[in-house]
Amino acid sequence: MKTGKTQGYVLTFRCINCGKHEVFAKYPTDGFEPEDQIRGRLYQVSCESCGWSGATCGLSAIRISHAKELKAKAAGHGLGL
Ligand SMILES: [Zn+2]
Repeated sequence: MKTGKTQGYVLTFRCINCGKHEVFAKYPTDGFEPEDQIRGRLYQVSCESCGWSGATCGLSAIRISHAKELKAKAAGHGLGL
């Protein structure tokens, strides 16, 4: 069933440059994915704090959460006021 929303998983990483937990990877998927499959992937990520970007493995994620709606733009890109 299509809802028009993109759901999926959001992974949080610790930035290897500034040390903050401001690095996020989004993995859109319609269904359920086992956590070890999500962790087994490589993600292209960038830090919202210092701007560092690179590839990181899901194994180093400090948190994985499921999101009903993934935003196309990362938070912190402006408040949209
Ligand atoms: Zn950083």
